[in-house]
Amino acid sequence: MRRFFIDPENIAGAHAVLTGSEARHIHTVLRLATGTTVTLFDGSGSYFEALLTKISPSRVEARIISISPYLAAEAGSHSSLHLGLGLLKGKKMDFIIQKMTELGIECIYPFRSDYCAAIDGAAGRLGRWRKIALEACKQCNRPKPPSLIEAMDFKELLSLSGTEKHELKLIFWEAEGQKPLREILDPAPEAKSALVLIGPEGGFSSTEVAAAVAAGFQPVSLGRRILRAETAAIAAASILQYELGNLA
Ligand code: SAH
Repeated sequence: MRRFFIDPENIAGAHAVLTGSEARHIHTVLRLATGTTVTLFDGSGSYFEALLTKISPSRVEARIISISPYLAAEAGSHSSLHLGLGLLKGKKMDFIIQKMTELGIECIYPFRSDYCAAIDGAAGRLGRWRKIALEACKQCNRPKPPSLIEAMDFKELLSLSGTEKHELKLIFWEAEGQKPLREILDPAPEAKSALVLIGPEGGFSSTEVAAAVAAGFQPVSLGRRILRAETAAIAAASILQYELGNLA
């Protein structure tokens, strides 16, 4: 069934109204007819099955037939993976946010650090990232987007991490002699919540790694090859999500 995003404010009882790009998509791109059943999701975890009742290029009305119980199942006791990510330049950040949404990352903390090349322009990008995450949710059938936190300094993220409950805290570091991720995952850790840090294009400074270690993070390696930040994020997220049982 086709999925569309609905602003929760546009739902009143069983009546739902889609506007903007979603209406245009239904009317002009897909040319759906009234009477078609679609799935609506509101980004808070709820799914609705709805019947299209009125279609115009800028406004589509629908009648909600049922509310999906998906939410309850999804909200069950799974482990959550959080990602701290050094700010990258424009498109790369967009790309990672899309991929992390698909891979089921719970929360993304973009951060500024010593070797960040992309500090400027971070402000105001949050709205764009949230949109990208919602789009990705729609595509991959994820009921709720990851939380996207306003960019902060690396130090702030370290102290914030101390106030949260993460049983597994890893900082990915390409420097020689680091423990391979494989070793950390053998045996598979029992973590309800994990936080991983991936540096920006310029990597982490050794001072930053030392501060992270002092804050309880283990430095960890993904092998001898130096991966681009986006590759490292995808590799780390995929491996950890698999280990945490979130890719099965
Ligand atoms: N400092 C590097 C590149 C940083 S790569 C340089 O310019 O030469 C960007 C980020 O990806 C790093 O901060 C790290 O978090 C992650 N990363 C890349 N390759 C890695 C590897 N082999 N092991 C662990 N982390 C890696």
